[in-house]
Amino acid sequence: MKKVTLLIPVYNEEAMLPSLYGRLIELINRNDMYEWEILFINDGSCDGTLDCLHRLRQADQRVNYVNLSRNFGKEIAMLAGFDYTTGDCCVVMDADLQDPPELVDQMLQYWEEGYDDIYAKRRNRGEESWLRRRLSLAFYKILQKMSRIDILPNVGDFRLLDRRCVLSLRNLREHERYTKGLFCWIGYKKKGIEFDRGDRLAGHSSWSFFKLLNLAIEGITSSSTAPLRIATVCGVLVSFSSFIYAIYFLIKTILYGDQAAGFPTLIVVILFLGGIQLFSLGVIGEYIGRIFKETKGRPTYIASDYNETKLGYDQH
Ligand code: UDP
Ligand code: MG
Repeated sequence: MKKVTLLIPVYNEEAMLPSLYGRLIELINRNDMYEWEILFINDGSCDGTLDCLHRLRQADQRVNYVNLSRNFGKEIAMLAGFDYTTGDCCVVMDADLQDPPELVDQMLQYWEEGYDDIYAKRRNRGEESWLRRRLSLAFYKILQKMSRIDILPNVGDFRLLDRRCVLSLRNLREHERYTKGLFCWIGYKKKGIEFDRGDRLAGHSSWSFFKLLNLAIEGITSSSTAPLRIATVCGVLVSFSSFIYAIYFLIKTILYGDQAAGFPTLIVVILFLGGIQLFSLGVIGEYIGRIFKETKGRPTYIASDYNETKLGYDQH
């Protein structure tokens, strides 16, 4: 019997868990030709999520949970999930039922047909503000231009991954993770299916504007070095134009004996160059920061419990 793992990162999802579990059990009962595992990654929740997971585990041995020692963010929670899945394939989904479990039936069909990575593509984006939708579209456009790999717009983390995709993803252990880019990076045979994304049923989205902005910067700096190239090109362009500008003044002074107007031109050029320099420094800093984080060689996350077992004693 093939085993399917449902991998669900949860962060303060106490309110969602009972109805989520109900829907998952419906899915499991419909597909009893598979063995199932429901793997929750508790990403350092500070409400009753852990107790709730514990109770689910007591009642149903198909439920497994990993408890991270603090909140590491969804991207890292997913990596922890890949480390602990036991299934022949693994379905990554959100806890808030924005990813309808009903779609998994279709994913399983494609999996049986031999696809390795079946991703769900949103036809709409649920209830999102106009600004957020615009910004997210612009972000994907920029990202697509900058990185050589195709990162698909309107595709989230909701997908079915064959075991070999999971094994490949386990090897990608960078700290600043942009998992959407990683899914594309590993390649394999992909298939998209469309669905309508609903709204979160309970609780609230934990993505603030700044968290999203951070994710966007991470997305760009982790999948592309184009910003460094842009800084270089800007530098060359500015130096070149200032050189032309200098020649222009030289000629003007020699031919017409004009006094070059000083203050306004100077201040404009200084501010302009200062801006470009700060921007370029920031870009370089972004990458150096990433190098710094990776060279420390820390583990990406710390798991403190697996089901009833306390982890962390056998490391020395
Ligand atoms: N999540 C997590 N760690 C976090 C934030 C979120 O594990 O730090 C989980 C959350 O419990 C949910 C999923 O990631 O299962 C998606 O979160 P959310 O619904 O807040 O994101 P959105 O749907 O707005 O993208
Ligand atoms: Mg959500």
